[in-house]
Amino acid sequence: MAVVVQKYGGTSVDGRERLMQVAARVAALRREGHDVVVVVSAQGGTTDSLLKEARGLAAEPAQRELDMLMTAGERVSMSLLAIALNSLGCSAVSFTGSQVGIITDTRHTDARILEVRPHRVVSELRKGHVVVVGGFQGVSVEKEVTTLGRGGSDTTAIALAAALEAERCEILTDVDAVYTADPRLIRDARKIERISYEDMAELARFGATVLKEEAVRFAERSGIAISVGASTSRTTGTIVLDAAEVGERSIVGVGLLAEASIVELGDVSRPETLQRLASLGGAVRYVTAAAGTLLAAVDVSRLEAGERGASSGVEVALVCCVGQRACSGETVAEGTSAVRAAGIELSGGCSCGRTMVLAVPREAAEAALRAVHSMFFGTEACSGDPNASSPRI
Ligand code: ADP
Ligand code: ASP
Ligand code: MG
Repeated sequence: MAVVVQKYGGTSVDGRERLMQVAARVAALRREGHDVVVVVSAQGGTTDSLLKEARGLAAEPAQRELDMLMTAGERVSMSLLAIALNSLGCSAVSFTGSQVGIITDTRHTDARILEVRPHRVVSELRKGHVVVVGGFQGVSVEKEVTTLGRGGSDTTAIALAAALEAERCEILTDVDAVYTADPRLIRDARKIERISYEDMAELARFGATVLKEEAVRFAERSGIAISVGASTSRTTGTIVLDAAEVGERSIVGVGLLAEASIVELGDVSRPETLQRLASLGGAVRYVTAAAGTLLAAVDVSRLEAGERGASSGVEVALVCCVGQRACSGETVAEGTSAVRAAGIELSGGCSCGRTMVLAVPREAAEAALRAVHSMFFGTEACSGDPNASSPRI
């Protein structure tokens, strides 16, 4: 079975016109003879407004109820898209994450997929139907509805592609590729044609929301190549695959985590310091020690509401730079000097593996990102790179 999994993000399914465009594209793919599974996100802004509604009622709503609420957003998109497809004569059926057997752990609002049992998908594909799945959701081993963390529809798409041994997984979004920096922030960002799982996951970890980090790591474990492109055009975007098939590049791209915090955890020799560190879980971006005191840089958006006050620290933004030589002394010196030359004071940093991170004041975040990007990628006007292309948003 030549299965193709496509995922359309929130902007791409926002409104009648865009939904019909997506339906037409999916129907055309089906006519080409593919078995098609489509994963959809909630329409643009829906998840945020649902969360706002809940937080207007209670400062810390129960995580279980938040999951029940948020999954409603994806239900709307999936059923509307199935209706649109059927109206075009392309028979389609929509399912929730639970119905397609996405089994997760019990961590509400940030669950991990443990297993996928896609029997219903397979049987609908055999009947010749397009299967539309609500992204970002699953059912826990305790039979509760769960969500996979913000941006989790990417994870749904990759998990289904892996379970169905799909020919490919296409992430279709509101930019036409992965760029050397967020093209909405850096006009001179360059299109990346091929990128390794490892580098893409690192960029995603530091703000490149175009793909979710967990989804990229899942794809790497399952050997699923991801293509990223625009939902509104067929131009070739970016392929994410094994490092061996990409070839090494000194610096691949830069990312920005606009809301981070450097938290002082305490004396490194005390057990409670380490307990505090452990409690920050997946929000930690790096850890350093200075004069026996442990410091953690955390992604504030990954902290739960209750943890935000308890783990308050110095508010910073983190600018990261990823690639084979991102940690060399030379690169760190160049990145640091670019930031200082822009008149920005560094408030910390670290370099490890394939990533260099610089902590800067939040108000200087974008200026620091621009400075680091132009240090390593120049500007289009002076790059001399004939393949450099302007971002298309
Ligand atoms: P979707 O709703 O389709 O899942 P997202 O908003 O999650 O879309 O991701 C797409 C956005 O990712 C783009 O609009 C872009 O601003 C942002 N982005 C951040 N970093 C990058 C990057 N390096 N390359 C491309 N897009 C990026
Ligand atoms: N709707 C969810 C979010 O806004 C999931 C997704 O878009 O992937 O985070
Ligand atoms: Mg997304």
